[in-house]
Amino acid sequence: MNFNYNRTKIVATMGPASAKKDTLLAMIRAGLNVCRLNFSHGKPEDHKKVIDIIREINAEYKTNVGILADLQGPKIRIGLVKDGGIHLVNGTRINITTHECIGDDNQIYITYPSFPQDVQANEIILLDDGKLQLKVIDTNRNDTVICEVVHGGILTSRKGVNLPNTKVSIPSLTPEDIENLHFALEQDVDWIGLSFVRTGADIVDLKRIIRESGKGARVIAKVEKPEAIENIDDIIAATDGVMVARGDLGVECPLEEVPLLQKMIAKKCRDASKPVIVATQMLESMITTPRPTRAEVNDVANSVLDGADAVMLSGETSVGEFPVIVIETMAKIVRNVEELGYPFNAEKAENKDTASTSYLSDALCGSAVYLAEHTNAVGIVSMTTSGYTAFEISSYRPKAGTYIFTSNRQLLNSLSLVWGVRAFYYDKLESTDQTIADVNAILKSEQFLKSGDVVINTAAVPITTQGKTNMIKVSVID
Ligand code: PEP
Repeated sequence: MNFNYNRTKIVATMGPASAKKDTLLAMIRAGLNVCRLNFSHGKPEDHKKVIDIIREINAEYKTNVGILADLQGPKIRIGLVKDGGIHLVNGTRINITTHECIGDDNQIYITYPSFPQDVQANEIILLDDGKLQLKVIDTNRNDTVICEVVHGGILTSRKGVNLPNTKVSIPSLTPEDIENLHFALEQDVDWIGLSFVRTGADIVDLKRIIRESGKGARVIAKVEKPEAIENIDDIIAATDGVMVARGDLGVECPLEEVPLLQKMIAKKCRDASKPVIVATQMLESMITTPRPTRAEVNDVANSVLDGADAVMLSGETSVGEFPVIVIETMAKIVRNVEELGYPFNAEKAENKDTASTSYLSDALCGSAVYLAEHTNAVGIVSMTTSGYTAFEISSYRPKAGTYIFTSNRQLLNSLSLVWGVRAFYYDKLESTDQTIADVNAILKSEQFLKSGDVVINTAAVPITTQGKTNMIKVSVID
């Protein structure tokens, strides 16, 4: 059953507000496509309960809701502080120590053992999502960093630390991440998100572990550090998808730069046919109110116009009061903007890398979308095992529906994140003519197509070899 018709997909973070089957089903009916499990919070057994509910719904309602396991990465925090909160006063000095202690007016603990070796004088330390700011005065290069309070206030226990200027030497996957990663892989999740990615090598390391586990999960690089922006081309080349993680990005980079960074990352991802999620504070006020602000509606709409594959909800669905209404609201905003359509990206279609091993199938996918635009085709119907064709066709944002048939079960759910794609299980690959007639008939019987509709079929022929896409056909539905 296909409940939703939004092409820009909706990702929602799971939490106590969305953990019940009825609520989750109502969210899926309203347009939710991918459930995000945030491993910064909750225990594996809590995540397992949600995974079981998603799988039950997928089986009962024939939905393909995907699962994104989001690893915390090298998140740095301060320790506990006296009385649960201390007051940092502008202009005063405070030490940051690598020895665990209860923080007070003189010193606070940081969960980053080599901080005194990595930091330099004058670098900035941001606490609690940037609400408080310190400046490094000196470091003893052993266990203590002397700081001055630039913007003070109340600092409570275990708040996050952002170090926008420091070259952080903590490995991209912490021991806790590796444990959570193995748990998520055992659960066969579809996507693994990695926080605080700095280089393409971070993604290569993560992919090696996934490959060695024999699992098929794909990787989302969360872009939230200035270093990731510097290395964005390498990161996009290495990853399967990107998240513009505006929460930490807006702390680590000047806030006013985030809108253009979002546009830059979205464009690069579309050019590389890698899905991109825009995340954080999209409908934040709906955590406590049933209607969003005008600015939030604009933010979701502009993210769709920027070419996001997916827009993401965090606290709105994990702890908010209106998890179903927030999905309905987001889906309405998305669908309304999508009426505008996207211009055909001729530049992308024409500037293919002729030396690439995928050149011929890339050229064919671009041509399939071009042909669909010029024949007013209602659908582009493709067969794929790896999913490559689906990512490539989607990146052109065709007006025609993108219908993907595959015998790769995990791909069905993975493609839930990808703009415009609807995926169907199909494994009767006997002859090209037979298969094309069959998949077109399935789409007609499920009322995605009707008699007289023009569709573009693509496939790899001979169909039994599951090679690269090399065939294009224009069909008229009987
Ligand atoms: C973000 O920082 O925007 C983000 C999505 O990451 P997290 O929710 O893990 O902090």
